[in-house]
Amino acid sequence: MIAGWIDHKETCRNCGIVKIENKFTYAYPGHPDQNITVDFCWDCKQKMIGTRQIVVRYGNIPAGGKSYNYATGSYEAGASCYFPAMGARPEFRCGRPRLVFSAIVINTGGDDEPVIDANTIQAVDKKERRRVLAKQTRVFNR
Ligand SMILES: [Zn+2]
Repeated sequence: MIAGWIDHKETCRNCGIVKIENKFTYAYPGHPDQNITVDFCWDCKQKMIGTRQIVVRYGNIPAGGKSYNYATGSYEAGASCYFPAMGARPEFRCGRPRLVFSAIVINTGGDDEPVIDANTIQAVDKKERRRVLAKQTRVFNR
């Protein structure tokens, strides 16, 4: 495995815009990570702030409702989550319960992930969850 600055193609799972970015990665040329298809673009993430969204959380909501960011050594504004069509890094998924609910997005976190206000969490039914995931996946597949 090599590390270096390589062309990095990203397709936003929300708006479908493809962006080429030259970024540092540990993926080698041809590695699937070069075609990142798991994220939302910055503009879409910013538009979600202040709105209620269906999100996925791996692991229970932390005490006090705030995730700890080990990279910065400080707490996020709220609990780190993902949007349904986003792929979570395996180390964040592994062995943790997968919770799906709706909440108000209040910021983005250290990994640009959506951060939610834990006091606004509401249950969502399966039908609504499927509708949102289908919408995001449809944009991605077109
Ligand atoms: Zn987008």
